[in-house]
Parts: sequence; structure tokens; C-alpha cells
Amino acid sequence: MATNLRKELLENRNINIDFIAGPDSYKRLPDLIREASQTGEKTFDVTLSEFETYSDIQPLRKEGTNAWIAVMRGCNNFCTFCVVPYTRGRERSRGVENVVEEVRRLADEGFKQVTLLGQNVNSYSHDGKDFADLLESISRIDGIKRIRFTSPHPKDFPDKLIELVATNPKVCKQMHLPLQAGNNRILDLMNRTYTQEEFLSLVDKMRARIPNVSMTTDIIAGFPTETDEEFEDTFRVMQKVEFDAAYIFKYSERKNTLASKKYPDDIPEDIKGQRVLRLSNLQKDMALKRNLQHVGQTHAVLVEYSDRNTKEWKGRTDGGQLVTLPGNHFQIGQWVNVTITAATPHTLKGNIV
Ligand code: SF4
Repeated sequence: MATNLRKELLENRNINIDFIAGPDSYKRLPDLIREASQTGEKTFDVTLSEFETYSDIQPLRKEGTNAWIAVMRGCNNFCTFCVVPYTRGRERSRGVENVVEEVRRLADEGFKQVTLLGQNVNSYSHDGKDFADLLESISRIDGIKRIRFTSPHPKDFPDKLIELVATNPKVCKQMHLPLQAGNNRILDLMNRTYTQEEFLSLVDKMRARIPNVSMTTDIIAGFPTETDEEFEDTFRVMQKVEFDAAYIFKYSERKNTLASKKYPDDIPEDIKGQRVLRLSNLQKDMALKRNLQHVGQTHAVLVEYSDRNTKEWKGRTDGGQLVTLPGNHFQIGQWVNVTITAATPHTLKGNIV
């Protein structure tokens, strides 16, 4: 947002800003601080690099079970509602060896799980290696037990990647598939590059190959010109897929995007609100239905933290479901086999076997 709104931020006298640094300007921070303090003038550097991947900086991480690792940056997709291609630039990926080296070090430090990050993570590509190759290389590292990734685009799931997720025991059986909308005209206006039918056939293919896969999604309700009937398509697709979880938002115009220039934000706020509410209620029912299917099953759970208020321990299944573990004392990073005894739309409850 600093990149996108720099002019307004610098000119607004009510906001006390000395300088603005874009995501690729971090190496210039000492200069920016010096310039701002010596001249007293507001300054900015939001230059985007074609090559910057952060591969030569290793974040300092505290102990934990999971480490987040950026493996690619930027996006070439230009969904019409999204600022990412303008504020983060085009896609560029780190080398496989560079990522593997970082993960090896994390495994030595005791991390058991890594989550690979990228604005369009499954379009990862470096020196002829694709995302499946990267996952495969990381899975060979001893000590790393689980690999997750986010956020993928539905168009970048070749059979090779689905096959790898299905067969590699370290790659979690969890897919985030951002649907955004279920109507083909709206998907086209969004420039999502898939149709409702293509999305549903991808879901079928994944479920056929990975039977216990859990699926989550993102939805935008009230995109410009979306009619009641077109909205019903989104409702029906969500009903059909039965996602385990969904992040549902009202359309909110982002400055400088194609949608903001071409499509007036013409759906009234109350209609957007009603649509979000209907989808959220549907999702709650679907999530409960999906979670109840786990009751009686036994899952390997990685203990992640203890809730400060309830003092209950929490961990996650391979599919990413949050499990509450009452009445026991655990350690962060511990593996436990848990039989699920109860479910709500958002969590499971279980007893150690
Ligand atoms: Fe890229 Fe995702 Fe933004 Fe689309 S929504 S332009 S895929 S970052």
C-alpha cells in the first residue's frame, strides 16, 4: 500500500511520515534514513527490481515448529481487482539450492515444518525447475516432516504437481484454491483465466487422486456488475465443492487496478454485506459437516502452541485442521496421535491415543 499510495501518504499533513520504502528498497534503508534525517525532507524509494528475491538475506527466526519461507515473489497474472503485480512486480524465483540450504539450516535448528510462500507460489520456476521439483528437493531434507505452501493459483496445478502432493508423505494434503467467484462472466471480468467448469474439474481431479485432501478458498462477493443470479453461481459452486474453510470478503476497490479504472464499484454495500453473510452461513454449515467426518478418526498432530486464555494446547493435522488437546501437558513441536472426539466449524477436539 505504501507503494500504491505514496503520493497521498507523503502529501497528507496529518500523517507523520519521514520516508517511504517499497518492498525492494530494504537495502537502501540506511541511505533513506540518512537522507531523511539530514535534509528533513520527505522522501521515498519504491523502485521495483526485476531480480530481487531476498535470497541473500536469512531472516532471524525464534524457536518454533513452522518457518515461513519466501520462494518466489511478484505475480504476472493481473487479476483486475489486485494491486500485487503493480506493487510487487513480476514473478521471480529463488534457486532450488538456495531454498534447500535455508531449509537444511532450519531443520538443524529444530524446525519441523516449512510453509513456502509466494504471491503465486505454484508458478515457481528457476533454471528449468518447477514447483514440484522444489517440493521434492525440500522433502529429502531429514528433520523436516511437513511442507505446506500458499498461495497458489488454480491455473498452475499440472498433473505432475498433483501427483507429487498425492504421493510424497511430507507434502501436506491441503490445497488452497482461490475461487474468487463462481460465475463465468465475473471470472472473465476478474481475469482469473479459468471457468467455473474448469475449476470444478480441477477439484474433482484432486479429490480423485488425493482422497483426504482438505480444501480452502478465497471469495470476493459483489464484484462490479455482479447480478443476483451471477452471485447464486458462486453460492452453488461453494455448495458443490464443500470447502473446509473459506476467506470471504466484500469487493473493495483498490486504487490503480484495472477494475478501479474500468468497472465502477456499483454494488451497494448492503447487498455486498448480504451476499457475504449468505456465503459465510453456508460455509459454516459446510465446515461443520466436513469437520464432523473426522470424529472417530485418528490423526498425527504437530503441537504448535498453548492458548493463553484457556490453557489448552493446540496443534494441526496434516490437512491443516486446528485440534484442541484438553487436559494434557504437551511440548511445542511434539508429535501426538490424536483421536478426534468432537468438532465445531472451526476446530476439532481430540484425545491423545
Ligand atoms: Fe496475482 Fe493473486 Fe493478485 Fe491474481 S489475486 S494478480 S494471482 S496475486
